[in-house]
Amino acid sequence: MKTIRDFDLDGKRVIIRVDFNVPIKNGIIQDDNKIRESLNTIKYAINNDAKVILLSHLGRVKEVADLPKNDLEPVSIRLGELLRKKVLFINKTRGSELENAVNNMKNGDVILIQNTRYEDLDGKKESSNDKELGKYWASLGEIFINDAFGTSHRAHASNVGIASHLPSGIGFLVEKELKNILPVIEKPTHPFTVIMGGSKVSDKIGVIDNLIKKCDHLLVGGGMAYTFLKANGMEVGKSLVEDDYLDYAKKLLKKTDKIILPIDNVVSDSLESNKSHITKEIGPDEMGLDIGPETIELFKKYIDSSKTIIWNGPVGVFENKLYQNGTKSICKMFKKEQTVIVGGGDSASAVINLGYHNKVTHISTGGGASLELLEGKDLPGISVIGD
Ligand code: AMP
Repeated sequence: MKTIRDFDLDGKRVIIRVDFNVPIKNGIIQDDNKIRESLNTIKYAINNDAKVILLSHLGRVKEVADLPKNDLEPVSIRLGELLRKKVLFINKTRGSELENAVNNMKNGDVILIQNTRYEDLDGKKESSNDKELGKYWASLGEIFINDAFGTSHRAHASNVGIASHLPSGIGFLVEKELKNILPVIEKPTHPFTVIMGGSKVSDKIGVIDNLIKKCDHLLVGGGMAYTFLKANGMEVGKSLVEDDYLDYAKKLLKKTDKIILPIDNVVSDSLESNKSHITKEIGPDEMGLDIGPETIELFKKYIDSSKTIIWNGPVGVFENKLYQNGTKSICKMFKKEQTVIVGGGDSASAVINLGYHNKVTHISTGGGASLELLEGKDLPGISVIGD
């Protein structure tokens, strides 16, 4: 696959699709991590004398009232600080102001245009990959680089649309994601253990179905464990259960003995209560909110003997201190010689917030995109780039 390194960028107008979808409250950026993650690719383009045109989405735009809170201008200011360089913000997604600014660019200049999803106001042009819009944005540049891993599972005008008209490649962030995740899914070194948690089975069926074929063991924790436990005939009280998926869980448990379920739980009578206890048998008024100590020991046996581990979803309600122990204990188990990939979304925030990011090989930056990679799907924003 072509990367930004494969192009001569000197004097070229290079459109880079970045993921600047950062949390912003009252115009103030709450976490600039995504901007920092894009710096490698942007700096590389600047240092190679490109004229850099940046496109990103921010939030969702359904009505006029969504515009001000999804304005990318604060991002352009923060980006300028991080680059120590002027970033010209164009408060438009098309038109003569944008075209003139692009025509006046000098080598090494950086322009950020307004949120690509402002185009969604008028017939969802960005999100439905409107042909005319993709062609128009492509006309502003000479080379296209996709470095927004987080939206690569979507075919939008700002990725697939532009890439269909220009010589295209991926940036360093996308390259890092693919280099870390793909070999593990395609050719994992065994023993290979998958740890799954999070709230729902229904969100993760694609991942389970793809990885169960490849892994040696699937350790299930989190809310989704209770659908499997109930399918096994266990009383799970008020724990999170998806009744519509009991059949699926039953069939899977019958088909494979790779699935390892919790043998004890940390339970409480409600999420709001500050009382919890450990039990093997869940009472009718109790709900399982974390894996218990015997389960941690059980999971440890499998994790200790693994060479490759994929982890998607926290094994307890880690946002609450009472139910962090399972997720924390798993973080502590990983060893340097193991390849440990953490899927995006909540598992990524759990590992980062609990302070264990140095214990793992790779934490994916994309929630939905990393889920789809784990499901074995092609990501349209990446397959459009081709070889
Ligand atoms: P997901 O986005 O599917 O990975 O789900 C992550 C969410 O699952 C987190 O917000 C956790 O609090 C939640 N979760 C983890 N364990 C449980 C549990 N036993 N019961 C209910 N929710 C849980």
